[in-house]
Amino acid sequence: MKSYFTHLQCTKSQQHFSTSELVNLSDIGAPVFANYDLASAKEHFPKDKIETTENSLWRYAPMLPVIDPAYRLSLGEGWTPLLQFERLSAAYELPNLWIKDESSNPTASFKARGLAMAVSRAFELGVKKIALPSAGNAGGATAAYCAKAGIECHVFMPTDVPELIQLECAALGAHVHLVDGLITDCGKKVAAGKEENGWFDVSTLKEPYRVEGKKTMGYELAEQFNFELPDVIIYPTGGGTGLIGMWKAFDEMEKLGWIGSKRPRMVCVQASGCAPMVRAFQNGADAATPWENAQTEAAGLRVPQAVGDFLILRALYESEGTALAISDAEILAEIKKIGQLTGLVVCPEGAAAIKAAQILRQNDWLKPDENVVVFNTGSGLKYKEALHIALS
Ligand SMILES: *Cc1c(COP(=O)(O)O)cnc(C)c1O
Repeated sequence: MKSYFTHLQCTKSQQHFSTSELVNLSDIGAPVFANYDLASAKEHFPKDKIETTENSLWRYAPMLPVIDPAYRLSLGEGWTPLLQFERLSAAYELPNLWIKDESSNPTASFKARGLAMAVSRAFELGVKKIALPSAGNAGGATAAYCAKAGIECHVFMPTDVPELIQLECAALGAHVHLVDGLITDCGKKVAAGKEENGWFDVSTLKEPYRVEGKKTMGYELAEQFNFELPDVIIYPTGGGTGLIGMWKAFDEMEKLGWIGSKRPRMVCVQASGCAPMVRAFQNGADAATPWENAQTEAAGLRVPQAVGDFLILRALYESEGTALAISDAEILAEIKKIGQLTGLVVCPEGAAAIKAAQILRQNDWLKPDENVVVFNTGSGLKYKEALHIALS
């Protein structure tokens, strides 16, 4: 089945782009989103036409932006398991607690979803060199898809990114540039060098397609719950691409006639050492101010400033969700506890989200009978430094 992708539009202005244009931010500096012919897709892509023999996110190809299937770069991303754990449910008094386990993705994190889409589209539009700043897993995922396509890849990472992730990027043939600073400093290096070096910048939400890959988490949850969305989704938030993407997916699926108007309450979880979205939510703000001296072992959450801050906050308010911060001490203790209760070595970001579920149950924000999905966004096995502390 063909893609119903029609055009791109700025999330803040009326600016449009065609599907053949290579786009970063719009003229006013806002993220640009892919739009689809949903009326026609509603007619020709009913939910019983999902390609269920395709065990990857490409089962939703008609609602994805890659136009020619020859440019799909697949390493088997998406269609991850939705798991229940009796011992964890009993301990947290949440009988309907589910973990969407993203650790089985290529490169062991859900970054594979977004980068599979961004690199595939760059490949389709003839890009030869890609660069990005990464707080961790995005670098590995970009390196992997660039290797599959034969695209030159430059990853800018803080020097204290988990060592295994740095090694992973190098093993996948990427040029690794270590920066003494944070992801925002890495972003500045990419911006400064891209003109001269001919790099296409695939920073989170600074190009339109990572969010399209991540939105497939929303499609999968719908399908895995037989098109009845859960009551609550708990998501460890850095740049927020997944949360924003799922919110977009729910809107698309309603227009496709796959789901009704009910939405899950969306919960944004951050680390106490870097919680700009939590602070903005608590202040009732519609944008976030940058976090100073960001620090946490949860590398994926060390994002002091998110380009899509207003989109994250909008989803939290509209869904009557909430936001909370978890300390590193709690995160590290949780990794060990979850390992022993579930059989999963979760990443620190996932541990933060699971800890948040426990706290929200304890203060009765979560009711015991609610269907709650927590994202374990990657494998803990890439975080050797954090595991050493957690287990010492
Ligand atoms: C990047 C990352 C996150 C944060 O994801 P966003 O969609 O950017 O908010 C969470 N967990 C892990 C493991 C990550 O790599």
